[in-house]
Amino acid sequence: MLGVSRDAGPDDIKRAYRQAALKYHPDRNKEAGAEERFKEAAEAYEVLADPEKRLRYDRFGHAGLSGIGMHDFSGMAADDIFSVFGDLFADLFGGAHPRHADRGIDIQTLIEIDLNEVLTGVEKTLRFEREDFCERCGGHGAEPGTERRNCPTCAGYGQVEQQTSMGFFATRTIVDCPRCHGRGSLVQKPCRQCAGSGRDRRERVIEVKIPPGVHDGQSIRMRSEGEPSLRGTARGDLRCVIRVRAHPFLQRDGDHLICVLPVSFTHAALGGQVDVPTLTGATPLRIPAGTQHGTVFQLADKGLPNLRSGRRGHQIVQVVVEIPKKLNRAQEELLRQFAATEDKNVLPESRGFFERVKEYLTGQTRGQE
Ligand SMILES: [Zn+2]
Ligand SMILES: [Zn+2]
Repeated sequence: MLGVSRDAGPDDIKRAYRQAALKYHPDRNKEAGAEERFKEAAEAYEVLADPEKRLRYDRFGHAGLSGIGMHDFSGMAADDIFSVFGDLFADLFGGAHPRHADRGIDIQTLIEIDLNEVLTGVEKTLRFEREDFCERCGGHGAEPGTERRNCPTCAGYGQVEQQTSMGFFATRTIVDCPRCHGRGSLVQKPCRQCAGSGRDRRERVIEVKIPPGVHDGQSIRMRSEGEPSLRGTARGDLRCVIRVRAHPFLQRDGDHLICVLPVSFTHAALGGQVDVPTLTGATPLRIPAGTQHGTVFQLADKGLPNLRSGRRGHQIVQVVVEIPKKLNRAQEELLRQFAATEDKNVLPESRGFFERVKEYLTGQTRGQE
């Protein structure tokens, strides 16, 4: 059906199925028999893409496929078939789910990373529990070896018309069949493990690739890693919400990192070199003599990579000059000596300031006269 050889690898099979599906999609191909070909291709792909199903098919032919959770494509719309193989056609739908009446349930989980992982990107092993297809019956609900039978209430359609009357008016709506819960079929002999529900809560372990530059609160959608829908035709997605842990020294501002650097007042006055913490270790920074409180230095390209462009932001270093809260006798004496030497050359800013204040106050007095 797919025109692949017996030893075709997963990528060849995928490619062949994609070509067949696009060629025979009933929306594109109006020729007689196109829809049947489209469904046969889906069935062929479902078998070939799953090593276990492929083995059974190779050994027992078509009969080997019953009761192992194969989809019944014959009764499904084209879009529903696409959504069964959601990942395969993700790029065709711009990442969005195709229209689907039987969407599986989305689940959400939290992944915590630190700023170093934002810098480099990281692959995390995620363990989570989810409602899954029962392993024994493959989600079919029927004990292996037995079949499901058509639901007599809905004649296998999975849906029934419901009539609601209000006085003279009667409205008709289509609802899921209450007997088979929309599946269209009933279990004759329920599976021993799941009692016919086809469901089982199981742990799942997957690798999640987190790109560099990701922001706190953003989420990564793992398509079809959620829980199965009621009818078992499609899985929902898993949404991994990213939490970026606070860093002891660095604060994030977009792609920039801000670091407050305490510098003693003597250090600021005399200048010197300090080690600034960055994500890749300490970077020496020269503090020039006479550095003021609040001065900002920039370490170019020491920030975080932009999620889209990959270009790194800067690290911004903000100087906080610390004034000693307590002085010992010797220090106080030295400072008093220093203060005696202060003149306009030492502190031009404050001298200019007080002169301007004086002028201002004099002007005010004149104005009042
Ligand atoms: Zn089961
Ligand atoms: Zn039914």
